[in-house]
Amino acid sequence: MKLATAPEISDGYLIARHPATGIETGRYRVSDAAAIDEAVTTARQTAGWWAGLGFTARRKILLECKAVMAGRVRELMRLIRVETGKSVSDAFSEIATSFEHLVWAPKNARRVLGPRRVSSTLAMWDHTAYLEYQPYGVVAVIGPWNYPMHTPMGSIVYALAAGNTVVFKPSEYTPGVGQWLVDVITEVAGRPIVSVVQGAGEVGARLCEADVDKIAFTGSVGTAKKVATAAAARLVPVLIEGGGKDAAIVDADADVTTAADFVLWAALTNAGQSCTGFERVYVVDDVAERFIERLVAGAGRLRVGGGDDADIGPITMPGQIAVIDAHIRDAVERGGTPVVGGVEAVQPPFVHPTILVDVPEDSTAVTEETFGPVLVVNRVADAEEALRRTNATGFGLGGAVFGRRNAMSLARRMRSGMTAINSGFGFAAIPALPFGGVGESGYGRAHGDDGLREFAHAKSIAKRR
Ligand code: NAD
Repeated sequence: MKLATAPEISDGYLIARHPATGIETGRYRVSDAAAIDEAVTTARQTAGWWAGLGFTARRKILLECKAVMAGRVRELMRLIRVETGKSVSDAFSEIATSFEHLVWAPKNARRVLGPRRVSSTLAMWDHTAYLEYQPYGVVAVIGPWNYPMHTPMGSIVYALAAGNTVVFKPSEYTPGVGQWLVDVITEVAGRPIVSVVQGAGEVGARLCEADVDKIAFTGSVGTAKKVATAAAARLVPVLIEGGGKDAAIVDADADVTTAADFVLWAALTNAGQSCTGFERVYVVDDVAERFIERLVAGAGRLRVGGGDDADIGPITMPGQIAVIDAHIRDAVERGGTPVVGGVEAVQPPFVHPTILVDVPEDSTAVTEETFGPVLVVNRVADAEEALRRTNATGFGLGGAVFGRRNAMSLARRMRSGMTAINSGFGFAAIPALPFGGVGESGYGRAHGDDGLREFAHAKSIAKRR
């Protein structure tokens, strides 16, 4: 069996492989500088036509894209699964939530971005004030591999609904899903409102330097900083959706069973390869034992593997396995106790669920993004200590509070863009709610009204009567 040593590039082609079997799943020509410029030029030539169609015509086309994709959902399911190794339920939920965005964004674009009269003191000066949101023009969307359909969809469809055209660079690990998405949209629109460029990081870097008007990036913090630097050099606005180190706080008055079940789901779904996956839990001493018992029992029921019956698939990006392994070893060497899994859980391309208790706060498993099915559970004296520790990393994407009396106060004070209460809620699934973080997790917002405004600039008009 040949395991992927991605990104695998041979004779100018990117070779995609199934992460569990190593079987080749497709070859995609790597875009050189000329191809990237051509894609941007095409997007620019199409931008005027697309913007000029207006909200209603664009909505019709985007909803038709949803209908066509839904009709070809088996193809999409297969592609996502062979390129990422996702379990059936992880692939299914990714597709279902992507479709929510594909419907919500075009349906709400006019309400959020359409022209309106604004009441203003300008009336005193004999003027009427108008506000409208105009598309930027050409948007570069750069995506990750962990949700190869859902994450770019959260930028592409919002950018399109706002009247922009798009050049999309999918992750080098999931080129086929990206190509599929672009092919379907192009086929339905009849014009290249979205183009794809393929390749590894250099292609993304080159795209950031091309003649684009906005960049929407989703990926790791390290790459985010490079993208933000490139964008700053040309004052191009950028949306940064970076990594996370989400924590759940379990207070003394929490329903422990509910807390454990949601935490387990949010930590292990997508094999822990989720930006908003829970990687830390701070549980108040009084309820810690019962909470951990329930977690351990739940984790023991999960099946790991590459088949249709698996709950937890392989690690998609081979290089990540070493990071996960190092985090587990560091935690254990520093005195953390594995109550599920541990160092022997790492069996490439799989990592079995691992729960580590009482891990020192300066361990990498606490301070850095692990991006695998590994959960740190640390006991604390009270919820205030839990909050202090939760807020101690540079990240600030999502998180959760389980409890009653102080839950809302803790949620508000959690340093994050999104906090769930008594739930492991996947914010990415609800289009109406803005998605994004603070601190190193990024800036700007995907989804919701803010996600539409992210792809348009406000234009003020004052007309003298
Ligand atoms: P990554 O940063 O390695 O790559 C992301 C994309 O950037 C890829 O397409 C890559 O080819 C491209 N890229 C690499 N170098 C570049 C450069 N210099 N300039 C421009 N583009 C470049 O991230 P990944 O491993 O693909 O994805 C996992 C990361 O994404 C995790 O940190 C995860 O938390 C994060 N993520 C965040 C969100 C969110 O919404 N906040 C969602 C999903 C994933």
